[in-house]
Amino acid sequence: MPMSVFPTDDLETRPTTLPDTLEGVRGIDLHLHSTASDGKLSPAELADLCHARGLTHVALTDHDTIEGVVEAQARCRHHGINLMTAAELSCQWRGIGIHIVALLPQGASRNFESGLEILARARELRSREIAHRLEKVGLADGLAKARREAGSERPLGRPDFAAALVTAGVVADTKTAFKRYLGAGKRGDVKMHWPELATVVGWIRETGGVAVVAHPLRYGMTRRKRDLLFSAFIDAGGEAAELVSGYQNPDTTHDLARQLDFHGLYGSIGSDFHYPGGPLSPGTISPPPRSHVKPVWCHPALRRFACGE
Ligand code: AMP
Ligand code: MN
Ligand code: MN
Ligand code: MN
Repeated sequence: MPMSVFPTDDLETRPTTLPDTLEGVRGIDLHLHSTASDGKLSPAELADLCHARGLTHVALTDHDTIEGVVEAQARCRHHGINLMTAAELSCQWRGIGIHIVALLPQGASRNFESGLEILARARELRSREIAHRLEKVGLADGLAKARREAGSERPLGRPDFAAALVTAGVVADTKTAFKRYLGAGKRGDVKMHWPELATVVGWIRETGGVAVVAHPLRYGMTRRKRDLLFSAFIDAGGEAAELVSGYQNPDTTHDLARQLDFHGLYGSIGSDFHYPGGPLSPGTISPPPRSHVKPVWCHPALRRFACGE
């Protein structure tokens, strides 16, 4: 059974320093989205919800951007929440689209921001290619339609094309849009514009950050393939992976813990929250099991974040 979040009435007694095990942890969510990417809440609204859910330590991880961080930071400060600058970076490894969470306790350097510009351009080119490919399945003028669905000038993502397909009546719902046209390996899953895994991990390292493989169980990989991914990631300077992302099967999580332990990776946790009304809320994750995996906030670079300094 997935565990819901803890009640909010224990805010007074919350620890000022974080525990050194993942088991039983609460109040932390290091994977959250806002309207700066494909989330539905503004950064300030997200901060309010995190507060209402009793979170004390969070990271805003919008896709390929830190645009929302300033607004979220102001609101988190107001609530006494520790927010870390972060982003979820798109890249590719062996032709597979991979997401790497960049935890940036020192903020973003100029070099890192140049990396984000490269990703923004890649996203732009990719959008054109996706629109082009979706013409063949009956979506005319897809770029403009996806832009309309996004409702702002933010970079477009596959969810915007999914919404455009639904509005145009090509498919009945978003789920079908991904299943048929946008999900992994489908025609709208365009990865060629993304930088290589080692490149984005390099940007994160150079800015004093910690690189985290996002939702390692969501790439449809065998365990063996995941081993290869983790090895390549570590060779590039990566140091952590999400042990729990939203809801996970306990047996699978247990096995993933063994795999992270084997590779000496720190473990992170996050809901991957995008919008209210769905199954997930900020702070909602399946409970991390007892394991030898060290929490990512025990990484020396995250000490200040963990201590709330
Ligand atoms: P992008 O960053 O443009 O590649 O889009 C990836 C985003 O699409 C993910 O972060 C999710 O928010 C969303 N997504 C991926 N797969 C699905 C799916 N099967 N159903 C709904 N949304 C999805
Ligand atoms: Mn998303
Ligand atoms: Mn992701
Ligand atoms: Mn995400």
